Amino acid sequence: MTDDGGHQSGTGNGTGSGHNNKRDDIIQARLKSGELKLYELEKELAPIDAIRVRREYIEQETGSQMENIGIFSIDVERVVKRNCENMIGTIQVPLGVAGPIAIKGGYAQGDFWLPLATTEGALLASVNRGCSAITRAGGAEVRVLHDGMTRAPLFATESVVHAAEVCDWVAAHREELRAAAEATTSHGKLTDIVTFVAGTSVFVRLEFDTKDAMGMNMVTIASAKVADLVAEGTGARLIALSGNMCTDKKPAAINAIMGRGRSTVAGVALSHELIAQVLKTDAKTIHEVNYRKNFVGSARAGAMGFNAHAANVVAAMFIACGQDAAHAIDGSTCITTVDLTDTGIYVAVTLPSLPVGTVGGGTSVETQQECLRILGVAGSGDPPGTHARKLAEIIAAGVLAGELSLLGALASQHLARAHQKLGRG
Ligand code: NAP
Repeated sequence: MTDDGGHQSGTGNGTGSGHNNKRDDIIQARLKSGELKLYELEKELAPIDAIRVRREYIEQETGSQMENIGIFSIDVERVVKRNCENMIGTIQVPLGVAGPIAIKGGYAQGDFWLPLATTEGALLASVNRGCSAITRAGGAEVRVLHDGMTRAPLFATESVVHAAEVCDWVAAHREELRAAAEATTSHGKLTDIVTFVAGTSVFVRLEFDTKDAMGMNMVTIASAKVADLVAEGTGARLIALSGNMCTDKKPAAINAIMGRGRSTVAGVALSHELIAQVLKTDAKTIHEVNYRKNFVGSARAGAMGFNAHAANVVAAMFIACGQDAAHAIDGSTCITTVDLTDTGIYVAVTLPSLPVGTVGGGTSVETQQECLRILGVAGSGDPPGTHARKLAEIIAAGVLAGELSLLGALASQHLARAHQKLGRG
């Protein structure tokens, strides 16, 4: 424990030299005068001390105390280099578990406990009920249909004829471009190149198999090499390494249609008996709620997602498992379908764009890594790629559980009551 009156800067990593009042006062004065920038603290102090001094500076500047933000156990040495600049502490998000859920995937097989980090009351209870229905039904069937992370450099050309020539050049030099891209990574493989033209703008959408990495850094580095060759070979001007036809972190039809990350489907057959017992409703009512809400309602609203709340499970599992939280937007394009069958219903979720990884990014932060371990997917898979695909399948099964439960709650008119009981303390 440090002696800074409750402002514990990390427990157990012991890398800091601790409070040094005289040194800290001098540094605070230099920060105040502008001689030292806030982001430069790690140049003079161990990361654990830089974090504390920065936090104290912000406390003084804002007049607000941060007793809790300064309490954490993660290895900040690595985090300040790889994950978070200008760090002042951590945010604690409650972590719950739903399950067990039985999964019959191409990669995920068996019973799993799902870690969900959220502050939304009723979410865990809802997903838990969906897990119970799925497990009692014999498990969720899950498959990864397509796997490819994309980056689309943007080029300016002189005319539409020049634009067409650039597309032809790219098609004729695929092998050369592939070799240049793959020289930058020992794991990534360039799997596809598609060109798009809008007037004099050309977008070269590059798709990679990124194995166990979510892959945005990997494909951006590889795409820079490709972009240089295209510019050199065609005289087109590289405008931006990312031309928004990738499309990263924006809702986009191209991702929903062509897929981005791990395109994953999950489905389960529920009998009339199970629907009555677990979801307290019947097949026809669930079918009608799904049709009128998820299809008619979404169409009328001009929504890109045709689901009940897929992003809820994606966001909560992404935060727990060290994924890039901004990619929860991709989860929102899920399509939830309900087919009436002779024995009940077959409910499925289609997630065209699920960018996930088990190495790189936030996956090595200790708390997040523990969540990946719960699922048996921390680090590289054997062979590489199998862990990330397994994670995608488990998340898709979790989304299916969430959809089932919410459709059931709406169908049985239980939604408001559940939220009143669980979301309001
Ligand atoms: P990364 O942290 O850059 O590291 C991934 C690297 O891990 C790979 O490039 C690979 O090195 C290595 N690796 C080791 N074992 C591997 C395995 N089994 N499978 C695949 N790779 C393995 O991670 P990233 O996934 O490329 O990028 C994710 C990060 O990018 C996140 O922090 C995200 O927030 C951020 N991001 C970046 C951009 C951007 O434009 N740069 C955009 C959005 C998000 P080799 O390549 O040498 O094989």
